[in-house]
Amino acid sequence: MSDYDAIVVGAGVAGLGVATQLQQAGKKTLLLEMYPKAGGRMQSYDLPGGYRVDIGLHMIEMGKKGYCHELGARVGKEFEWAAFSVTLDLYEEGKWQDMQSFIRLTEEEKASFIELMKGIAEMEEPDFKAWDNRSFGEWLDRNHLTGSLREVWENMSMIMTTIPDAREQSAGECLYIAKEALVKGRAVLIAAYPRGGMWGVIGPLVDAFRELGGELRLGARVEQVVFEGRKVAGVKVARKGASPIAREWRFVSTDLVTAPLVVLALPIWHLDKVLDFDRRYSPLPGWWLKRIEDIRGERTGLLGYIIATRRPLYERTVFMSALKSPRTGLPLQAFAPTAFDPGVAPDGRYLLVTDNVAEPWELEDKFNLARLMERHWEDVKELYSFDDGEVELAIPYYTTGCDGLARKPGLTGDFKPDVQAPSVDGLFFAGDTYLGRGLAIEGASRSAILCVERILA
Ligand SMILES: Cc1cc2nc3c(=O)[nH]c(=O)nc-3n(C[C@H](O)[C@H](O)[C@H](O)COP(=O)(O)OP(=O)(O)OC[C@H]3O[C@@H](n4cnc5c(N)ncnc54)[C@H](O)[C@@H]3O)c2cc1C
Repeated sequence: MSDYDAIVVGAGVAGLGVATQLQQAGKKTLLLEMYPKAGGRMQSYDLPGGYRVDIGLHMIEMGKKGYCHELGARVGKEFEWAAFSVTLDLYEEGKWQDMQSFIRLTEEEKASFIELMKGIAEMEEPDFKAWDNRSFGEWLDRNHLTGSLREVWENMSMIMTTIPDAREQSAGECLYIAKEALVKGRAVLIAAYPRGGMWGVIGPLVDAFRELGGELRLGARVEQVVFEGRKVAGVKVARKGASPIAREWRFVSTDLVTAPLVVLALPIWHLDKVLDFDRRYSPLPGWWLKRIEDIRGERTGLLGYIIATRRPLYERTVFMSALKSPRTGLPLQAFAPTAFDPGVAPDGRYLLVTDNVAEPWELEDKFNLARLMERHWEDVKELYSFDDGEVELAIPYYTTGCDGLARKPGLTGDFKPDVQAPSVDGLFFAGDTYLGRGLAIEGASRSAILCVERILA
């Protein structure tokens, strides 16, 4: 007799989504999270003085029309959304311009653009698959897109993938994201901000899980998945305070918790911390272990600032981007959370979140990261015309594991690892690095839905 019917490891949006659906389906579920707070990469913080900030720039593609919203609806929670961002402001020629006034097309160009959009709106899964192994740069060339129109596309595909160069982006993924937005929102890219920031999604999911009787253990780090032959038997959880020796030097003592079903809702780059990759001992096949090892370094990177000021630095409810920042030379993304929801800052205070999209290797060297941070700060002051004296708060942040498995050619669609482990019973996966399409949070939510459908099938 096992302790639980199911154990889910990781309380990010995917783990919360999987655990809540399993609990709803009548399975006694334990959700284990190593941090003292749920949310994973969608973590929010309440700061002294009444600010609520996310761990970096975060908007959710598709908002009410997407899979993240559907995940909430499936477990009886309706997320509240602030205004949609359906347009993009671009920084060109020393000023911010809205997308429509930036693109100047002749009547003939307009007609062919509309035809192109119709073509994307009619694409189906086999069409995306055909482009999964090819770059978005190639798709732009194939469709003879040049000038301002190409620049707008390159801005959007950079936002869609968090990858600077269109020749490094998977065309299948960009076209899928564009189709979803065109069909459901009549724009190529739409995004929304939940009221209260990312906690507006994570908070209700935590409530749903607990209301259904699920057990969420925070500060519980899983050390190992345990198998009996080719069947999952449970997990070993790090025992707290068992050793007086500092963490760097001690061997971790664990407690066994048993269940016939374990879902690892963590990115593939954490799998070797909980699964034994030694081919002599692992019940998982060598080809699968090799594939995970081959692709776990395929990540995306960001660096940026969360900035609070006494006057709004930008007031439009839009997403902003520039292909090349003046000093870092990197693509820039930004939006003003308080333009969407003034409630995330105290009265009379305003937030702006910025980032530069970078290859992870550029950020892994701390000296290079510090140089980029300094230059980005100078860029941001120039682009939003403010000086240091106006700043109430400036929180620098960076990540080298932002958007799941990098959406590069050969890494999207069916190339992504499946949500079910091969050759063993009872082991599943969920999150933005596994099967599922769409921008990161959408991909993670879709994968959580797919994972539960597969388990319950
Ligand atoms: C700075 C930043 C900006 C981003 N901006 C956007 C954006 O604008 N739009 C967008 O769509 N996406 C964005 N993303 C990506 C988005 O946040 C992720 O795609 C999404 O949150 C992934 O959810 P997940 O559940 O798959 O994984 P995670 O959120 O990573 O959840 C995994 C969880 O597992 C836990 N865990 C790991 N190992 C263990 C262990 N051994 N034991 C117990 N628990 C463990 C982790 O603590 C974590 O809570 C951004 C990410 C970052 C970092």
